[in-house]
Amino acid sequence: MELNYKKRNFYKDTDRADAAYAYAADYVKFLDAAKTEREAVVEAIARAEAAGYRPYNFGTPMKAGDKFYYNNRGKSLFLFRIGTEDISNGVRISAAHIDSPRIDLKQVPLYEESGMAFLKTHYYGGIRKYQWVAVPLALHGVISKKDGTKVDVVLGEDESDPVIYISDLLPHLGYEQGKKPLNEAIPGEKLNLLIGSRPNGEGSVRDNVMAYLNEKYGIIEEDFLSAELSAVPAGRARDLGLDRSLIAGYGHDDRCCAYPALTALIDCEDDRHTLFCVLADKEETGSDGVSGMQSRIFLDLMDSIAAAMGGNSAQVRAASKCLSADVSAAYDPNFPEAFEKRNCSELNCGAVLSKYTGSRGKSGTSDASAEFLGWLRAAMGAYDVVWQTGELGKVDFGGGGTVAKFIANLNIDTVDLGVPVISMHAPYEVIAKSDLYEAYRAFDAFSRF
Ligand code: MN
Ligand code: MN
Repeated sequence: MELNYKKRNFYKDTDRADAAYAYAADYVKFLDAAKTEREAVVEAIARAEAAGYRPYNFGTPMKAGDKFYYNNRGKSLFLFRIGTEDISNGVRISAAHIDSPRIDLKQVPLYEESGMAFLKTHYYGGIRKYQWVAVPLALHGVISKKDGTKVDVVLGEDESDPVIYISDLLPHLGYEQGKKPLNEAIPGEKLNLLIGSRPNGEGSVRDNVMAYLNEKYGIIEEDFLSAELSAVPAGRARDLGLDRSLIAGYGHDDRCCAYPALTALIDCEDDRHTLFCVLADKEETGSDGVSGMQSRIFLDLMDSIAAAMGGNSAQVRAASKCLSADVSAAYDPNFPEAFEKRNCSELNCGAVLSKYTGSRGKSGTSDASAEFLGWLRAAMGAYDVVWQTGELGKVDFGGGGTVAKFIANLNIDTVDLGVPVISMHAPYEVIAKSDLYEAYRAFDAFSRF
């Protein structure tokens, strides 16, 4: 009998390295194609439809084996597959988010100053502002015109595209700025995107930028009033390290959980349990709004499934289980002062299970029960998943939350399970391929056990 607990290491304890690298290759394609929640919905639907999922409308009849998705305004997505067992046994839910920290345009963004044209912004989610200056950025989003047409924008991703940019002071003149705390050195109103510098003949630089926008997208300045445009890091995710064991890319939080949750649902070969996958929007700003996890839509869909399958929604929820699929902070030896090493996640030690999140005395967490964790240990053990526990840094150092509590509040046993991330919320975040793969295997075990 093994008396002592020892964290496992993926490479030392399994022979799944090749499988993990192969799995990561398609993940990187997903990551590059889905930099916003809208793009993630499009990518996820394409994969789901290829696997036989079809659109659900409220009232659509359903039976065992049916596979549906519900596209909520192009910004959040719900996918479900009806199982053969009694719906009263509950639903196995995985819930990830597909929005990531970024820099949104304001509604009246365009202006000219000193011969340069800029776009005003209001950042989205928890960013460290100093990380977003002096790096190439791309513009993604939609412009909704008065005539009801919509223009999709992706500018700065093709090698031949121009990029946009936020300036910073040169070190030669940055002495005073350099004395400020990191969080104050770049105020939010300085995050202005440089987008042009060439005047239009006798006209202004601003007019010239508008002329380009009109030519390329058929828009006038007023169309910005009804647009959702975001600046995100330009370029692709890359393998990191000589052994290619890591991936550097934008938006691992939370696509490195959304992708495993989605693919585990699509790939699941066991047809007994009803499976439900949520790809939510607005997690980074508190899960509010019609496309956030707190939207009534989730409950409406659970109610509809329960009713269609002859169950009682309250009873179905009471018997359901949920993995809130979100990332955790990986131990970073460059910043040991922020972590408590015995209880935080480490790269290559597998999927990370966080019993609780929150901050200052577990405030704002749903804190999963010992019984639910015991059940999950059995599920992951049955399928030899490499996993570890995690906590978001030292006690009283900071903290954070996920969608877990909003699902738990609906009387569904919920716990966070995801992938450890280095430099979370930075323009380029880092994860390990092994942990990504074990997260996929964890969702698979959860769906089948
Ligand atoms: Mn997250
Ligand atoms: Mn986040």
